[in-house]
Amino acid sequence: MNKLITLEGIDGSGKSTVINKLSDDKFDTDIIKTSEPTELYSDIHNLVSTDNISDPLFNFFTLILDRYHHVNQIMGNEHDDTVIISDRYVDSTRVYQPIALAGEKGPFESMWEAKHYVEVILEAFTYEPDLTIYIDVSVDTAMSRIQADHSYENHEFLEQARTDYLALCDQFSRFVRVDGEQDIDSVVSHVIDTLINHGV
Ligand code: ADP
Repeated sequence: MNKLITLEGIDGSGKSTVINKLSDDKFDTDIIKTSEPTELYSDIHNLVSTDNISDPLFNFFTLILDRYHHVNQIMGNEHDDTVIISDRYVDSTRVYQPIALAGEKGPFESMWEAKHYVEVILEAFTYEPDLTIYIDVSVDTAMSRIQADHSYENHEFLEQARTDYLALCDQFSRFVRVDGEQDIDSVVSHVIDTLINHGV
């Protein structure tokens, strides 16, 4: 059966750099790399809406449709024995969507209501990962690594996202936290060790 491993963390934590540095020859098993949102996200978005700003509920359901397709694609053949590593997946939805849905333009008054709503929708079809590697960096480190001029990448937003990721680390035993403040080679080798320890 396929194994699904996810990489999570706030923007600038180093997820895409790490995943790009993982190569098959380090592991006993073949790995397939993927990421979310997939290319389908912007295709669906552009097909349905000409409005680039769009509202959080519309973005959420576009993401859900993209996820539904992605899950069917990656977990489609359960008889395969492949390790799939995804840069972002369901925990990104758990962290980011409630913030948007309970934000200024969202339909919910409180984060609690928004989180509950997101979980109910996810429960219908989500395939939970076997292992999640959370790359943890401070918001200051993340901000210094990324262009901080996007409206969604402000300090307060990233602090909330990091707090919610750390809460997920406590909630789910499948989470392994890796210190993303280390130099990139140390982060990569920590991730490789974690994968090997989990049978990859
Ligand atoms: P993410 O995919 O989590 O948003 P990226 O992998 O795109 O993050 O990294 C954002 C920037 O930070 C890139 O310029 C990358 O080279 C740099 N970076 C990533 N990890 C480290 C690290 N451990 N130390 C220093 N710079 C890093």
